[in-house]
Amino acid sequence: MANCTNCSAPLPPDSIQCTYCGSRNDTDLAGVHYFTTHELESERTCPRCAVNLKTIDLNINGRFLIERCNQCLGLFFDPNELEALLEATVTNVFSIDRKQLDSINSLKKGDYGVSYIKCPVCSTIMNRVNFGVKSGVIVDRCREHGVWLDGGELRHLFEWMKAGGKLLQQERAEEQRRTEARELEREKRKLQVQAAMGGSSADEVSFDLFGGTLRKSDPDLFDIVVKAVRFFTK
Ligand SMILES: [Zn+2]
Ligand SMILES: [Zn+2]
Ligand SMILES: [Zn+2]
Repeated sequence: MANCTNCSAPLPPDSIQCTYCGSRNDTDLAGVHYFTTHELESERTCPRCAVNLKTIDLNINGRFLIERCNQCLGLFFDPNELEALLEATVTNVFSIDRKQLDSINSLKKGDYGVSYIKCPVCSTIMNRVNFGVKSGVIVDRCREHGVWLDGGELRHLFEWMKAGGKLLQQERAEEQRRTEARELEREKRKLQVQAAMGGSSADEVSFDLFGGTLRKSDPDLFDIVVKAVRFFTK
């Protein structure tokens, strides 16, 4: 957990506002090793404060530009950028700390409660979606333009990654894939059995008299043969 840079009190989970001294902490990018704030004015506006966002370069594998609001410290990521940042920043995680994930997951939702905000690019109301398995973070997402994180949520997602949240997510996906494969296999076998049973008893009938098999699906011929057999065996 992070502490207030002003008074050292522990910060509440999922919030950047210190409950003791009231100062706002820029905790999110503290987890990112090297970043420079070019602070270019972006044309996009903060969905919380309606001021222009600033472009900052996180210097990950070259230029890595995201946008930030200097007032509320919210961050906007183009599609897939957030995932790339998490991957690049939190490495060497080999185990899943389920206890830690449970406590991260149960944290209360930050400073804004449940509210719907507009995409900084197209102004469409964004969808609130759970980020990853057991992260406890609900992000605001525009399917076309990207993801908005309120101040403190990136820190939360770093902690989720460190606790093995991504690993758990991959494990769940793998389980899901195996279950689906098993179901498909079961379904296939059922069809094979049906086909086999249908082939021997329902559709094909043996006639010793003629020394061959006859299909019921040739109804005319079938009828003639049945009548003939009845006639001869009376
Ligand atoms: Zn403080
Ligand atoms: Zn803002
Ligand atoms: Zn959009």
